[in-house]
Amino acid sequence: MHTPTETDRAQYRNVWVIAEHRDGKLKGVTFELLGAARRLADARQSEVWCVLLGSGVRALAGECIARQADVALVMDDPRLAEFVDELHADALTKLIEKHKPEIVVCGATARGRALIPRVAVLTNSGLTADCTGLDIDPETGVLLQTRPAFGGNIIATIKSVSHRPQMATVRPRVMAEPEPQTARKGRVISEPLPTAVQHAARMKVLQAITNTAEGIHLADADFIITGGRGLRGKKGFELLRRFAHLVGGAVGASRAAVDAGWIDYAHQVGQTGQTVQPKVYMACGVSGQIQHLVGMQSSDIIIAVNKDPNAPLMKLADFAVVGDVFEILPAMMDEIRRV
Ligand SMILES: Cc1cc2nc3c(=O)[nH]c(=O)nc-3n(C[C@H](O)[C@H](O)[C@H](O)COP(=O)(O)OP(=O)(O)OC[C@H]3O[C@@H](n4cnc5c(N)ncnc54)[C@H](O)[C@@H]3O)c2cc1C
Repeated sequence: MHTPTETDRAQYRNVWVIAEHRDGKLKGVTFELLGAARRLADARQSEVWCVLLGSGVRALAGECIARQADVALVMDDPRLAEFVDELHADALTKLIEKHKPEIVVCGATARGRALIPRVAVLTNSGLTADCTGLDIDPETGVLLQTRPAFGGNIIATIKSVSHRPQMATVRPRVMAEPEPQTARKGRVISEPLPTAVQHAARMKVLQAITNTAEGIHLADADFIITGGRGLRGKKGFELLRRFAHLVGGAVGASRAAVDAGWIDYAHQVGQTGQTVQPKVYMACGVSGQIQHLVGMQSSDIIIAVNKDPNAPLMKLADFAVVGDVFEILPAMMDEIRRV
């Protein structure tokens, strides 16, 4: 395949965010990416485009514009109602071929991870997965894509120098959401689902199975109470569930607790689990190894409860409570009920 020349690359412009939505609502990661895309587009003196693929998605265009998109590029078709990676990837590829974005970013979510690698192959582009930082090289204008590598031991910055678009998936809850500005103005461009794409899909969705995490999902929670090996077993997690219920929060877990079979993997926080950024993250009986910290260290307020005052998480915490979790938590719950 031919390597694009400088002239080929010059045809590509603007920063695209691939919107993620479910049940008629945009996911937070879309707003986070729009905030990041704004910075990138300003540095490139170009525009932010938000791509909406699905059924009934035209209604979401205004919200994308209020959160920093200059253009909402909409492909609204009932045949895109269910997420089928093959169909959505073909549709997105056609949009890329027509409008030629310079940069395409998407959430490193289950959907984003299924969609974007296909598009990268179809458009013969470079892709950096799971980025935690995005910037523009002031010398060359190339996208700097930063991500942890080798088990989080190094941070690598990757460039796609010759091919366009430059594509990246970004971990949810790593970047800040811009506030909505309802007075912002933007354009809406509607594109039909190309006929060639309609006939291409070889898969269809038979049944959707929802996340196995009980209660509030980690990604949506403002308050997360996480348990580690110090919880000693399933009973310890019962205590955590009662606490979470009392304050309207979600339950997280360290990998040690998940590996021990005390709680489902859907609750795991960290490098091989979920990245979270709640307002309050309360870790109970969790030592705070680096693989756990990378998943929660951007939380607004961190509380740690641990018998060991020298545990790494106790050093990182805004509030470090030294003591036995089985004494501290019931006492806190009594106090919360009292006030
Ligand atoms: C490639 C790789 C990926 C990984 N991914 C992840 C990941 O995604 N998430 C993750 O969490 N880990 C991950 N790990 C594992 C990680 O290295 C740690 O082993 C794990 O986080 C430790 O879990 P823990 O803190 O619950 O257990 P421990 O390190 O054993 O800590 C238990 C803590 O509980 C305290 N404690 C004990 N009893 C009590 C009590 N009664 N009251 C209060 N405190 C008490 C102890 O003082 C101790 O600090 C990964 C490891 C590797 C190699």
